[in-house]
Amino acid sequence: MKTILNADLHCHSTVSDGTLTPEDLAQRAFNNGVELWSLTDHDEVGGQKRAAAAARALGMHYLTGTEISVTFLEQTVHIVGLGFDPDHPGLIEGLRQTRNGREQRAREMAEGLAKVGIHSAFEGALKFVGNPDLVSRTHFARFLVESGVCKETHEVFRKYLTEGKPGFVPHRWARLKDALHWIHQAGGIAVIAHPARYKFSANEEFALFTEFKGHGGQAVEVITGSHTVAEFVTYTATAKEFGLAASRGSDFHSPDESHTELGSLPYLPGELTPVWELLTHRIQ
Ligand code: AMP
Ligand code: MN
Ligand code: MN
Ligand code: MN
Repeated sequence: MKTILNADLHCHSTVSDGTLTPEDLAQRAFNNGVELWSLTDHDEVGGQKRAAAAARALGMHYLTGTEISVTFLEQTVHIVGLGFDPDHPGLIEGLRQTRNGREQRAREMAEGLAKVGIHSAFEGALKFVGNPDLVSRTHFARFLVESGVCKETHEVFRKYLTEGKPGFVPHRWARLKDALHWIHQAGGIAVIAHPARYKFSANEEFALFTEFKGHGGQAVEVITGSHTVAEFVTYTATAKEFGLAASRGSDFHSPDESHTELGSLPYLPGELTPVWELLTHRIQ
């Protein structure tokens, strides 16, 4: 497959914290000219069969995907897995463990919000949840917008759901090593998602990339909806420095909330190895 390809290898459906079904996302990606697509729901592969079938019906190439929540140096880091066998028991069990604890965390988030006068947020967030195993901060954000507490979801995150704010509950996710092991066991490739989003020092970021490589990680998102144009340049250099392939994905969640539309990002820089070149045998 060529480097200049409209690949979108990062987005979310109702199976995690997106608002469109896998089928509607496939149609939207196709309408936007996406040639190679992946649905990467958080900590979950329950939508993979539907996404692959929808892509096939449209004649659009597909790679299986997920986005695993990891705790690294006390921060949450997201690792995208691509091109794995979605039925692999080790991967399924690892993701199940990672999802475990989300409900308890959500109850504690609601307790924090109740202390500042926002009541019944757990029940409120549940109204927006498509998958009971996957209640996320995004669902709380939608509830707080619906109830008029904030105008939009970014404002909810800023005021209520990030570190130090009333609805924030620290959580321990998977270990980097384990997340990579699950992806690799299932025959996939691991990708560091949106690296510019983390608040690491230069040394900490170096440690993340070094450990990721050490555990067999092979790619990094360079062109993502979470990066500025300057960050495209920064992480092009990082990909080369660490000998990593590059990925491209919008991180689309919802027509109402996402700033980056499916399939709308700039192409990968020609000097990088596209992650799909390592996955030609896995493309459906
Ligand atoms: P969780 O896995 O429950 O911690 O939720 C993380 C999700 O919240 C991310 O995948 C994003 O979809 C969303 N999110 C995180 N930060 C923000 C933000 N500042 N504005 C809007 N959505 C955000
Ligand atoms: Mn999300
Ligand atoms: Mn993410
Ligand atoms: Mn994402």
